[in-house]
Amino acid sequence: MSTIFNKIINKEIDADIVYEDKISIAFKDINAQAPIHLLIIPKKEIKTINHITAKDKEIIGHLFIVAKKIAKQLNIDNEGYRIVFNCNDNAGQTVFHIHMHLLGGRKLLWPPG
Ligand code: AMP
Repeated sequence: MSTIFNKIINKEIDADIVYEDKISIAFKDINAQAPIHLLIIPKKEIKTINHITAKDKEIIGHLFIVAKKIAKQLNIDNEGYRIVFNCNDNAGQTVFHIHMHLLGGRKLLWPPG
């Protein structure tokens, strides 16, 4: 079943989109946990990390290429940032369309808890 992220991909609902190409789209998280909090998602619907297959290797790799490009554009590449994927309940996944969180713009705590 499609999620709210599919509606963002299809422009059925608004999002603050910062990047888009054939494979992926990136937009601001509606409930930002840091000065920079973006979600980078594949246009292909993949529910969780557990649903990634070998065929998706290029897509998943692409998300990282997009993330580093955006980090450079936002000038946080040198100071640092964090990439997070949550998978299922214990990690707090709420939207079942995989998404890479890109967090930055402040000193981030570790461990995340
Ligand atoms: P997760 O908890 O890893 O599944 O992350 C889902 C993220 O999606 C949360 O950080 C939400 O704030 C964010 N989110 C949910 N709906 C929207 C939306 N319509 N636009 C932007 N971000 C959203």
